[in-house]
Amino acid sequence: MLNVPSQSFPAPRSQQRVASGGRSKVPLKQGRSLMDWIRLTKSGKDLTGLKGRLIEVTEEELKKHNKKDDCWICIRGFVYNVSPYMEYHPGGEDELMRAAGSDGTELFDQVHRWVNYESMLKECLVGRMAIKPAVLKDYREEEKKVLNGMLPKSQVTDTLAKEGPSYPSYDWFQTNSLVTIAIYTKQKDINLDSIIVDHQDDSFRAETIIKDCLYLIHIGLSHEVQEDFSVRVVESVGKIEIVLKKKENTSWDFLGHPLENHNSLIPRKDTEDPYMKDSYIRKNINQRRETFIFTFNPDVVGLYYRKCQLISKENVTHDTRLFCLMLPPSTHLQVPIGQHVYLKLPITGTEIVKPYTPVSGSLLSEFKEPVLPNNKYIYFLIKIYHTGLFTPELDRLQIGDFVSVSSPEGNFKISKFQELEDLFLLAAGTGFTPMVKILNYALTDIPSLRKVKLMFFNKTEDDIIWRSQLEKLAFKDKRLDVEFVLSAPISEWNGKQGHISPALLSEFLKINLDKSKVLVCICGPVPFTEQGVRLLQDLNFSKNEIHSFTA
Ligand code: FAD
Ligand code: NAD
Repeated sequence: MLNVPSQSFPAPRSQQRVASGGRSKVPLKQGRSLMDWIRLTKSGKDLTGLKGRLIEVTEEELKKHNKKDDCWICIRGFVYNVSPYMEYHPGGEDELMRAAGSDGTELFDQVHRWVNYESMLKECLVGRMAIKPAVLKDYREEEKKVLNGMLPKSQVTDTLAKEGPSYPSYDWFQTNSLVTIAIYTKQKDINLDSIIVDHQDDSFRAETIIKDCLYLIHIGLSHEVQEDFSVRVVESVGKIEIVLKKKENTSWDFLGHPLENHNSLIPRKDTEDPYMKDSYIRKNINQRRETFIFTFNPDVVGLYYRKCQLISKENVTHDTRLFCLMLPPSTHLQVPIGQHVYLKLPITGTEIVKPYTPVSGSLLSEFKEPVLPNNKYIYFLIKIYHTGLFTPELDRLQIGDFVSVSSPEGNFKISKFQELEDLFLLAAGTGFTPMVKILNYALTDIPSLRKVKLMFFNKTEDDIIWRSQLEKLAFKDKRLDVEFVLSAPISEWNGKQGHISPALLSEFLKINLDKSKVLVCICGPVPFTEQGVRLLQDLNFSKNEIHSFTA
């Protein structure tokens, strides 16, 4: 339908009309302008008092927050803590207080329809309203057969009711040509790294990383879709939208049928949560009422693999190569900084897997395109051990051959970089690989960063990975210092020599650490890493200040 412009001016409910008659403006205090409000919302201050958590709000709870200094208002099902906004509200505090502790949608529509409240109040978002189940009916059998997104209205309400206070959930909707699957994570700290999507034939999988768990959507789609799709994250509300393109522009009666472990929370292997470590799978047996059961099932904890094509392979040192793999067009996967994946190849009839840490294509943009389109490529720096089991086989692959790549794993958290001032990296041999993305990230995305020091241990000069890139980067960015230490140098080497030791470390870490926020990352052969961690502890670095990369 065409949107025909209104003949009357100002248009009903337009800003001009509302401002002139519909509501009175009150004088705002100094420092309480719209710009001041925007500045406050961007300051990182916790405006909800919930430290970034999104909650499910019951009517009873909403009613309790009805005072000026504790005022929650519900607008179109979303609840906002408007107390911090009171003094900035052009209509005055009293006007806002009319909706305190209640559903203010109607009031809002009468007076503020033109205001983009979602964006204005996005930092005040407390969560969604919990909706009471309208129909208490067991849908379990129905659920087994189809995932019906075209439920009558009463049942749609009931679908929403399934969402417990912190469990993720999903929903879907369609247009003539698109199907959108929306995942509600109920977490604010999600991004494009948090979601992995694979669809092959009619099987659709979406793994969402939520803290120490994976939330799995696994569906046999009812109709065919095109290979490419898009993924969007609305960080402020913790929502992920996966937009699939229909092959035929027909209306779908249902999304599809559930496949194994559909709509389940699965603990991640590398979780730090001891309870979750027990390989329990939390399966939602009744989607509409959010009934989770726990079953012990080590099989389902296994990582999912997709086949990737070898695009290029180039020598970096005499025994280390840069491999570039292309993800299938029907996959969205971005390996988070500090995490690794497993590569899988059949070797003499047996499937062998080994862990590898993806790197960026280079440390400097002049060496490689910074990010190839859609993050469809994964790079690896891999040392070939001629007497090894896996790497010789990998080295034999021809361009165009396939290797399976798992979903990511690892317990490194990017939050470790928050307000970081001094970063020390201790790498030995291919233990340099996690440092690549860390270096790229640290030098571009940590505003508080003062200094990065890399101490890179190798046997000989010929073994040093990306030496000239590292030297160029250190020349370009004065915050970076790089030191090479060789354990088996030729006699002409006039740099540092030996293995990791108290003397080398105390000199390397000599910096005014008194007041600075520090992180030391260490990776290499197991004895190197273990010895390094012991020495760092002896030098009074706390557990939080050390991250060791291990399997
Ligand atoms: P292996 O068969 O494991 O052999 C390796 C060497 O050990 C060979 O020289 C072999 O002769 C010797 N060896 C094997 N068994 C014995 C034995 N019993 N006694 C004495 N010597 C023996 N490597 C990279 O190159 N790049 C990466 O990005 C990377 N990331 C990793 C991430 C993680 C989390 C971990 C844990 C390891 C990572 N590795 C990485 C190492 C990688 O996983 C493999 O261990 C490595 O590639 C060797 O595999 P391989 O099967 O070829 O060699
Ligand atoms: P390498 O054998 O060439 O040795 C590199 C340097 O490590 C040596 O020069 C020496 O300084 C130090 N080193 C080696 N053995 C040592 C020991 N016993 N004690 C103290 N220092 C020692 O290294 P490489 O063949 O490149 O092996 C790299 C290692 O890093 C592999 O074991 C690999 O599994 C590991 N790695 C782990 C991760 C991870 O856990 N995330 C990632 C990448 C690599």
